[in-house]
Amino acid sequence: MTSVLIIGAGLAGLTAARELTRHYRNVTLLDKGRGVGGRLATRRIEQSRADHGAQYFSAKTPPFQKQVNEWMQAGLVNEWPLQEGSTEFQHPRYVGANGMNAIAKHLARDLDIRTGERAVRLVAQDSGWRVETEVGTTYQADALLITIPAPQVLALLSESGIDLNSTGLSVLKSIEYQPCIAVMALLNQPSHLPAPGYLKYEEGPVAWVADNQQKGISPNQPSVTIHASHPYSEAHLEEDMNAVGRELVNHLADWIPAGSVDSVQVHRWRYSNAERRHPEAYLAAATSQPLLFGGDGFGIGNVEGAVLSGLAMAESLVSRLLPT
Ligand SMILES: Cc1cc2nc3c(=O)[nH]c(=O)nc-3n(C[C@H](O)[C@H](O)[C@H](O)COP(=O)(O)OP(=O)(O)OC[C@H]3O[C@@H](n4cnc5c(N)ncnc54)[C@H](O)[C@@H]3O)c2cc1C
Repeated sequence: MTSVLIIGAGLAGLTAARELTRHYRNVTLLDKGRGVGGRLATRRIEQSRADHGAQYFSAKTPPFQKQVNEWMQAGLVNEWPLQEGSTEFQHPRYVGANGMNAIAKHLARDLDIRTGERAVRLVAQDSGWRVETEVGTTYQADALLITIPAPQVLALLSESGIDLNSTGLSVLKSIEYQPCIAVMALLNQPSHLPAPGYLKYEEGPVAWVADNQQKGISPNQPSVTIHASHPYSEAHLEEDMNAVGRELVNHLADWIPAGSVDSVQVHRWRYSNAERRHPEAYLAAATSQPLLFGGDGFGIGNVEGAVLSGLAMAESLVSRLLPT
């Protein structure tokens, strides 16, 4: 029975897994996190919800628009009408109705997912791959899909002593991510952010602030999510996150008065958006056993790119590498 192992249960890995389970019974995902979703991340803070990874997404391609329509029909996704009265947003933007992570949980239903399993070593075998995890578990599969950010892939390959050919290596090395410091502030009264509940900045320490209540994901208690700019995030990534979080909140005192802030939490994303990507939706390694790399570092990037990458990896595996 053909088996597939997928490293990374973010949007790309989950999408690939859902497609592959239509063809193969033995599809397993590994994720180092406690839950699924990766950068589709939502935190519950008391009675509030805050998205601290992806904030919204658009749909530019028919396959993804079809997927979004299905999510909307299932009540999983809502439109956030950012384009109303805005010159920045020309097309609809969508958000998870109960936070972005709920989309990942929806995709994860009925899949075989092992969380808390960080892959630390890959071993090519006569037939397929062996993957060892930090906690000492070993998995075997005929085919391997890797959907983690390219710098982490390179580290994993190097620790495993696997040499890709020079083309494969240069593709992975060409993909670059920006860091982002994300701050979630729990409020005891609504923020002063104007409708529809966001501000974008071209310069300064803050790039983006969103009101999670106006966004519709936190009806019971207000909170805001702040994303630091990439230069600021880069410069402050190794500093004390509590101090950095406070500084970013204070910077927005006109919109978030000091007395309204009950608590502040900070998340450090070393890899947020893939600013330099490989143009194709995935990369098939020139190894004797099937090995594919995908995720938002490939194709059009972002949420939509991760889904399209997952679909393309699955299609490639089914049609070319592992004919049914
Ligand atoms: C701050 C921020 C803001 C963003 N804003 C937007 C936005 O507004 N709109 C938009 O469209 N996109 C946005 N994005 C990007 C979007 O979130 C990503 O493009 C998308 O979620 C990537 O999905 P993925 O599956 O490719 O990767 P990920 O979600 O990163 O999934 C990879 C998974 O692999 C796991 N993993 C890593 N290493 C290992 C290992 N060794 N072993 C096992 N598991 C491992 C991780 O835990 C993770 O769950 C944002 C991202 C961030 C961080």
